[in-house]
Amino acid sequence: MDDNEQAPSELETLTLALLHSRGEVERLRERELLVSSLLGSVNAVLWAFDWEQQKMVYVSPAYERVFGRSAALLLSDFDEWRNSIYPDDMEYAEQSLQSVLEVGSVEQREYRIIRADGEVRWLSDKCFISPPNLFGGQSLIVGIAEDITEKKALQSELHRLATSDVLTGASNRRHFFEHAEQLFAEAQANSRPLAFLLLDIDDFKKINDGHGHQMGDRVLQRVAHCGAYVVRRDDLFGRIGGEEFAVIFPNCDATQARQVAERLQREVQRLQFPADEGSFGVTISQGITVLGEGDELDDLYARADAAMYQAKRQGKDCIVLG
Ligand code: GH3
Ligand code: MG
Ligand code: MG
Repeated sequence: MDDNEQAPSELETLTLALLHSRGEVERLRERELLVSSLLGSVNAVLWAFDWEQQKMVYVSPAYERVFGRSAALLLSDFDEWRNSIYPDDMEYAEQSLQSVLEVGSVEQREYRIIRADGEVRWLSDKCFISPPNLFGGQSLIVGIAEDITEKKALQSELHRLATSDVLTGASNRRHFFEHAEQLFAEAQANSRPLAFLLLDIDDFKKINDGHGHQMGDRVLQRVAHCGAYVVRRDDLFGRIGGEEFAVIFPNCDATQARQVAERLQREVQRLQFPADEGSFGVTISQGITVLGEGDELDDLYARADAAMYQAKRQGKDCIVLG
């Protein structure tokens, strides 16, 4: 060191250190700004939960947008999270959260929430236990929750389109028989009764010929509505052909199935359709059978079909048990 150069004074050293740490603080602040602007623009809610304290320790800005609720409230009181879960999904939401602790992660949890404005939305979240070197060694459950309401609505619309008949809204033939096979197998496995019904609209060709195809369509729709109206919750009503419908009744004997068929007969007899000369009515023929020893679903179908044709031979507008 030559004579002109002097060692930095204590003050200079402190000033330099301060400037350096200011730079550090500035860099950290920039980084924080970047992270929070990224989190703000992501539509998923990132969250961190302290299981031991039962306390939410972090939620990203999207929380307020998706949940329509105050993040400050959630951070101060975990009951706010419980209040936001759709009651039917509460048990699942709590259990699946706990299972993260047991297995380390849960790939997909789907549950509904109720926003403060009352709107119900579907969420899907992915959760895992935070690595031990983060959050000061504290073990947290962290998760990313995504709003999947639109995806769910699309899925259920696709399901509806794939399983129902476009004209009448009844189950389509494919879905009817797939589901019927399931109900049939369950009845057999549990030795439970099961009934099967086929119905065919009488003289439908005359309706088409006399009143037009569009009126024929309207008749199909109204008959299908009667069917959907009279069957019980667990029964399945389907359109299996042009003007042919079928019903499968789980846990139902011949007497109960016949009662439903009689109600349906009366509902259809009550229908009236406009025509040039006043109005016209419509009737149906029905064949019913019940599950017997050694039956396959095809046997039920064949017996109900034969019974239905017997009803046609007997003069139509009646029910035959086969
Ligand atoms: P039966 O009393 O013996 O049952 O005679 P039917 O005239 O009802 O029976 P048929 O099988 O001769 O005629 C059924 C008609 O249903 C023929 C077909 O053109 C018509 N049909 C099938 N699907 C549709 C549809 O989606 N809309 C309309 N409008 N007609 C249909
Ligand atoms: Mg027919
Ligand atoms: Mg017919």
